[in-house]
Order: sequence, then structure tokens, then C-alpha cells
Amino acid sequence: MAFEGLADRLQDTLQKIRGKGKVTEADVKEMMREVRLALLEADVNFKVVKQFINKVKERAVGQEVMKSLTPGQQVIKVVNEELTALMGGEQSKIAVSSRPPTVIMMAGLQGAGKTTTVGKLANHLRKNHNRKPLLVAADIYRPAAINQLETLGKQLSMPVFSMGDQVSPVEIASKAIEKAKEEHLDYVIIDTAGRLHIDEDLMQELKDVKEAVTPDEIFLVVDSMTGQDAVNVAESFNDALDITGVVLTKLDGDTRGGAALSIKAVTDKPIKFAGMGEKLDALEPFHPERMASRILG
Ligand code: GDP
Repeated sequence: MAFEGLADRLQDTLQKIRGKGKVTEADVKEMMREVRLALLEADVNFKVVKQFINKVKERAVGQEVMKSLTPGQQVIKVVNEELTALMGGEQSKIAVSSRPPTVIMMAGLQGAGKTTTVGKLANHLRKNHNRKPLLVAADIYRPAAINQLETLGKQLSMPVFSMGDQVSPVEIASKAIEKAKEEHLDYVIIDTAGRLHIDEDLMQELKDVKEAVTPDEIFLVVDSMTGQDAVNVAESFNDALDITGVVLTKLDGDTRGGAALSIKAVTDKPIKFAGMGEKLDALEPFHPERMASRILG
């Protein structure tokens, strides 16, 4: 279950303060020491932890009194609000182009869950937004990627655009958009190449695709289970591509939550979706508030 470890620790810590009728500055300090340890143990970026702790302390010590809550509950409310803010505050919506098709480019390292997420996102757009997506196979290096996308298309009964592996991703992406226009499909989701490591060639190819098709969204797919590595990957891709959002995959298996809690603060780009399993319906819009409540119980 997502955030299980972190949730257990934070809930234990906050439980001690919840019923308190009087909360002193020393109580807040003591509690925040434990919260700090819990966040570091959850693999949250240390700078992010520091800023978070300072903000909560500042607000919790200087706060005005709300009659409906005990002082302990008020401190917990501050923690909840700051956790929500840390994960992006408001839920971030997906772009809709005024001139269809809306183009979404997917990027990420191999194994992060990019191709699966293309299928999940298409499914989400059809099911919840009544859209007609075209899936585009522009990952021409991983031998199985094109087949994998075609299989996903069959499972979803959705069109897949591919031109084999001998045509450049730029050409594939450009032709796919023409095709979507002809067939009145309103979303184009481009599966680009992933590599095992970030390298110049990968970034250049992605930049070329970006320049050729000017996407409405560039989603970076990262594996939440890789913790701070995921955050570093997000920073590099964002520097090179100026991404518009992050899809965090495998949150179902991430008991720690360090990536989810650090990525927005480090990259200033919102987490748009969370992958919660291998199935095609296991994608959820990322709601910072709900995530914070899940953590705090
Ligand atoms: P790509 O190389 O980035 O295109 O990665 P794939 O889409 O092939 O996914 C790699 C593996 O991760 C596959 O076995 C997927 O089923 C799995 N996967 C993707 N997203 C999720 C997720 O949200 N949760 C879980 N548990 N597995 C996922």
C-alpha cells in the first residue's frame, strides 16, 4: 500500500499530540523532531524536509486559536495543509488544446512504466473525459515496445499509429498528428524512447520530437519506488525538456513515498497522475489533499 511506512510513523507521532488541550513550543519541537526523522526515513529530499519542518513550526507555534479544535488538532491540521502544499496543493488538470488534437508526449527511463502509462492514460481520457485518443509508437529502439503498444491498443480497442522501427521518431510523431486530424481523434499520446540511463542522445531525440510537434503536455513517467533517484531523473528531464508534469508509477508498491513528497518541491512541476497497479484502469489523477489525508489517516 502506498505510503504505508510513512503513514504508520507519522500517525504514531501525531497521536501523542492529538488530544492535548495545551501545546507548548517544546511539544511542537519534540513532535517535529520525530516528523523530520519519519520524512527522512521515507526518503524525502533533505532540503525539502528542512523547509517543510520550518514552515510547520512557524505556523504551529504562532497560530491563532480556533475554537472548534483542540491545540493538538490544530497542529495536525497545519501538518496536513503543509503536506498537501508540498505535493502541489490543488489537483493539476490535463491540458485541452483549443485546436485538436491535444498532443501529449511521454518521456521516461526504460522500465519506469511509460508504455503501460500510455495505455492507462488513453483509457482514462476515454472513460472519464469521453475523448478519442491515438496511441503513437515512437519508441523505435526497445524491440518489444511497438508490439507492446499494439497489444495495448487491441486490449483497449483503440487505434495505434506505428511506422516500424526504421523511421525517425520525429517523422512518426508528425505523421501521427496528421492522421489524428484526418480521423477526428482528439488526443495524440506519443510513446517516446526510454534508455536505461539518461544520455545526450536520448535527450536530443526528445528535444527534436518536442520541437517538431510542440506538445500541449510533456509528461515524465517515473518509478516512485526508486525514491530520490526518481527525483534526480525528474530534475534532469525537466532541465532538458521543461516538462509540464509527472506521472508517478508503482505508487501501489511504494511504502515510503519519498518521490511523491519531493518531486513538486524540487522541480516545481506538478504530479498529474499516479499509477496504482499493472492493470489498464490503475491510473488515478493525483490529488495532493487526498494523498495527505491518506498519510495522516
Ligand atoms: P517502459 O519501459 O517505461 O515503457 O515500462 P513498461 O510500461 O513496459 O512497464 C514496466 C513494468 O512496470 C511492467 O511490468 C508494468 O506492468 C509495470 N508497471 C507500470 N506501471 C505500474 C504501476 O503503476 N504499478 C505496478 N505495480 N506496476 C506497474
